[in-house]
Amino acid sequence: AKMLGKARFVVFTPNLRTEAISRLDLEAQLQHAIERDELFLNYQPIYSLSSNDLVGFEALLRWNNPGRGVLLPADFISIAEESDLIVKIGEWVLLEACRQLKQWQKNYPDREELCININISGRHFIHPDFIHCLETTTTVTGLKPKYIHLEITETVLVENREKARIVFTTLNNMGYEIQIDDFGTGYSSLGYLLNFHVDMIKIDKSFIQSIGKGENGDHLVKTIVNMAQELGIDIIAEGIETERQLKDLKSMACKYGQGYLLSYPLASSGIDDLLQSGKKR
Ligand code: C2E
Ligand code: CA
Ligand code: CA
Ligand code: CA
Repeated sequence: AKMLGKARFVVFTPNLRTEAISRLDLEAQLQHAIERDELFLNYQPIYSLSSNDLVGFEALLRWNNPGRGVLLPADFISIAEESDLIVKIGEWVLLEACRQLKQWQKNYPDREELCININISGRHFIHPDFIHCLETTTTVTGLKPKYIHLEITETVLVENREKARIVFTTLNNMGYEIQIDDFGTGYSSLGYLLNFHVDMIKIDKSFIQSIGKGENGDHLVKTIVNMAQELGIDIIAEGIETERQLKDLKSMACKYGQGYLLSYPLASSGIDDLLQSGKKR
């Protein structure tokens, strides 16, 4: 046992050290990513599953790191969330995404009802400046709150009950739509969400991808969709990758969908092409 302990010590220390250094390194670079103009957004279309109409986009953050190339949120969001750096980044995302949607609404007046979905970190949601940040964003961009859909995870509502409830209610009264992201992966229930005025739930892609791989997956998704319908909550299915998944979700009368089958996340120029073409899905 002693030998094993020693061996472990030798093997693991350098790795942990390297990882810690690389995280510190990334954090230091991330501090300057905004002023160096290295952040950008991709936009993934969201469709109505009944009409195939485009209804909006989810803004997804990317970081063009000079040494490492384009990084995905999995590479850097958790680092940002360790400090208020996530607040700075979140403010940038809000402004950029809302500016972009406003521009699309102007350029394509017949598409004025398109909405933008924005991921909000829990730390940002309960930050004292968050509501003010949203007010500034809508003032500066001229985008109405009703076009802004804020995606938060159920964990945010469970872990910060009192604070989250106040922010939630305030934003709702101001006209923002709040959606529950990654539903099913946290530890809340639909019943718990009744404590809030939840407009929309996004069923996590892990559940969507279980459709067609044995009966339990289908059954679980169907149960969530049915219960939500009874509670008057709409559903977005995320991570739709196969025709089978799409067909089953349509037959469950799931209202909205998003996923690689319908469209990959696109650069803003790709969305321009899509809007010009006037294509449905
Ligand atoms: P999420 O909110 O669950 O976003 C959906 C993720 O699934 C995105 O990954 C998207 O590219 C990916 N995706 C979309 N369709 C499919 C599909 O059909 N199959 C599969 N396998 N994946 C699909 P991405 O862009 O890497 O983002 C990962 C996570 O990072 C997001 O998960 C979200 O939690 C977070 N994130 C992204 N942008 C932001 C942001 O601006 N702020 C914050 N705080 N978090 C963000
Ligand atoms: Ca999301
Ligand atoms: Ca999600
Ligand atoms: Ca997710």
